[in-house]
Amino acid sequence: TSSPLDIPGATPMMAQYIEIKAANPDCLLFYRMGDFYELFFEDAEIASRALGIVLTKRGKHGGADIPMCGVPLERADDYLHRLIALGHRVAVCQQTEDAAEAKKRGPKSVVRREVIRLVTPGTLTEDRLLDPTRANLLLAIGRRKVSDTSEAYGLAALDISTGRFSLSEVESSELAAAIARHEPREIVLSEVIHADPALAKLWRETKAAVVPLAQGELEPASAERRIREQFGVKTLDGFGNFSRAEIAAAGAALLYLERTQLGTRVPLSAPSREATGATLAIDAATRANLELTRTLSGERKGSLLDAIDRTVSAGGARLLAEHLAGPLTDLTKIGRRHDAVAFLAEDGALRAHLRDALHAAPDIARALSRIGLNRAGPRDLAALRDGLDAAATIAEQLRAEENLPDGLTRLARRLEKADRALAEELARALADDLPLNRRDGNFVRAGYHAEIDEARLLGQDSRKVIAALQARYAEASGCRTLRIKHNNVLGYYIEVPQAVGEACLKGLMQDFVHRQTMVDAMRFTSVELGELESKIAGASDRVLALESAVFDALSARVSEGAEAIADIAEALSGLDVAASHAELAVELAWTRPVIDDSLAFAIEGGRHPVVEAALMKAGEAFIANACDLSGDEAGRIRLVTGPNMGGKSTFLRQNALIAVLAQMGAFVPAASARLGVVDRLFSRVGAADDLARGHSTFMVEMVETAAILNQATRRSLVVLDEIGRGTATFDGLSIAWACLEHLHEKNGCRALFATHFHELTALSQRLPRLDNATLKVAEDRGDVVFLHEVVPGVAERSYGLQVARLAGLPPSVVARAGAILKGLETSERERPARRKIDDLPLFASLAAAPPPPPEPVKPEPDDRLGQLIDRIDPDALTPREALDALYRLKKER
Ligand code: ADP
Repeated sequence: TSSPLDIPGATPMMAQYIEIKAANPDCLLFYRMGDFYELFFEDAEIASRALGIVLTKRGKHGGADIPMCGVPLERADDYLHRLIALGHRVAVCQQTEDAAEAKKRGPKSVVRREVIRLVTPGTLTEDRLLDPTRANLLLAIGRRKVSDTSEAYGLAALDISTGRFSLSEVESSELAAAIARHEPREIVLSEVIHADPALAKLWRETKAAVVPLAQGELEPASAERRIREQFGVKTLDGFGNFSRAEIAAAGAALLYLERTQLGTRVPLSAPSREATGATLAIDAATRANLELTRTLSGERKGSLLDAIDRTVSAGGARLLAEHLAGPLTDLTKIGRRHDAVAFLAEDGALRAHLRDALHAAPDIARALSRIGLNRAGPRDLAALRDGLDAAATIAEQLRAEENLPDGLTRLARRLEKADRALAEELARALADDLPLNRRDGNFVRAGYHAEIDEARLLGQDSRKVIAALQARYAEASGCRTLRIKHNNVLGYYIEVPQAVGEACLKGLMQDFVHRQTMVDAMRFTSVELGELESKIAGASDRVLALESAVFDALSARVSEGAEAIADIAEALSGLDVAASHAELAVELAWTRPVIDDSLAFAIEGGRHPVVEAALMKAGEAFIANACDLSGDEAGRIRLVTGPNMGGKSTFLRQNALIAVLAQMGAFVPAASARLGVVDRLFSRVGAADDLARGHSTFMVEMVETAAILNQATRRSLVVLDEIGRGTATFDGLSIAWACLEHLHEKNGCRALFATHFHELTALSQRLPRLDNATLKVAEDRGDVVFLHEVVPGVAERSYGLQVARLAGLPPSVVARAGAILKGLETSERERPARRKIDDLPLFASLAAAPPPPPEPVKPEPDDRLGQLIDRIDPDALTPREALDALYRLKKER
């Protein structure tokens, strides 16, 4: 490598900067200079814009000014946080020797600096950079060939802020849903996977930062070596059967950690393997649409998660979000969670005790990870002290109960493993008031460490000696205002008022050395004072060094038990989640759902948790509704019609949410619920605009609907809202119709289907597992009153005009619309050529061949548009051509 000085025209420091920057091209470089991190060149421009800080100049490079901006050290975390949130990666570069060492190498040498850490969205550990209630996941992706035409993807999900590490494998069709479930902050993968055109959309649309790694570094052998080294094992056999894709993913994750943590080994729990199909598959669109963990506008407030969160600890909140993102499919596990919730719901006193204890317990998972990474402070040790203590207490509380269900017994057993001796040791060692940083010292409790006590005494003694010296000097000089003071520049010094001057110091002047003359004072030092000073400094250095050694010893003890402590942290979180569900169930009268392996879906008195909470705040009541989609061989489909604002969407979503809640282990907002376990959940809304991503609404809707029709199984639950609305009426109607038939005949899933196409309700006569339902409406002197009650049958009218009036459309417009409507309805009735849907052949009878589309309305002779439509054969069009045809039609108008 060439010396930095070879770069022509650069000052030595700039040369160093340029070299370090060249090694970290995709990061913003935080270059430490004194009490600032400085950024230069383009980095400075990016950061000043992103952070709103002043862009200045510093010196020249190649004849041009060097743009620069700086962030003060003490605010660095804030700024880091904002840059990371914007998706930047930051390389933190610090001095790794002191100035004296640099000087030894030559008068002009610059102090050596090195990048000590890369800060990236997926590898954060600082509390100030993290949301306490969310996991901060790095997701690595590997893949393997399953056959000539298919591939499987391995996912390694890890949260270095807590050490959680899990592996799973999915088919390519499930990759998107799996990524959506993890909600990673950062994704690492090989450049080959990154460049795969079939996946380009995924990387483009994810909110995570995506980091491709060179293929050459990801060979299977090096992946295995990394895993062996990380976990200190000779073979991977002990970890169970990981697939090649999973090993590739784990290897990529560990490589990336090596890169970003620069040699510090990240403490991780042994990877747990998640079986394929262990969780309810929910794709990204469904998650978004059901607003599971955040609303459509991206906030937590207003989401299901927010509505059900009664956890009292940060770890509990994170686990709750994780459970919600990945509801289970295993009946035994779901049952175990429900048992625990039922027990805690029953026993209010126990629940209150536990929640108090959990609330007081600190976030040990994150403290533990900082300790392992050498980024901890004394308060992290204190967190472990209190956390371990709380775990032991809670375990005792649980053990005192009779008939503890299996789920809670397991938790208690894990909590009992808390290392009491370690907690006691920490309690003995740590002082009451703890500083944030270990270098601030003074965190070891008096009496814990004899040498520290001794050195501290020495420091205090010296201070006494100084006081005595001051008295002696004052006496000898006769100057009663003589003081011995301390500042950072001079250290200890003697100060006398100017007015007193040297005159009275005569007797002492042979000892005193003049240091400074101020306006009204003179400052001196003396040999005796100098000696004392170094003794004091020595003592406090010694105390610091000794305290630091104590810190290291305690950290090492903690790290030895890291795995057990991480497990305890998880158990505490699990208990918090169960107690949260119980609290919620009692508070809102939620019930335990019955889950089995049937195809039942029978909800009595179901409610929508978020809408209900909002109504409750406004003092209004939510109308509970039943829903039955149970079937023996296949699920039933309920077709819901009704006016806008009637409550269709609410009804549809609430049933999907009940399934999610039930399978995540919570109780549900219903009088009773029995459901056969759901394998996949799909939900679509027709009107979701996606213009931001450059797709037409209709196109998105069709792509998503296609995914459902291709993937939904008999075990799936499908919720479709207004499918086909994004296109012309007849196209839309035919699409909706064909989709319903497909769901009924081919998918056989349980489904809810809301529509404006009243024509579809006729299908109930020929599709045996389809029923109609509508939202009851009353009329009050021409105004519509929404009763929000779901009843069997078909909506009589759509009340569009009434809703428009309620919405405040000018009365003249509403009146005019009424007149137009009347005209349209009359001409519609009189049109002879229109065939009713009832006349069309049955889908079932044509199972072999695709059903013909409903016959188009015969165009009037001069109806150019109609003729054009007539010429379109939707079955023969590619999506692209369909889109073009739509544009053509629009233009013709
Ligand atoms: P639609 O999908 O039929 O247009 P929504 O489901 O969006 O109607 O509901 C419109 C509004 O009606 C909701 O915002 C809510 O305030 C109210 N609402 C819906 N369902 C209920 C219910 N079951 N009980 C009380 N109010 C409801």
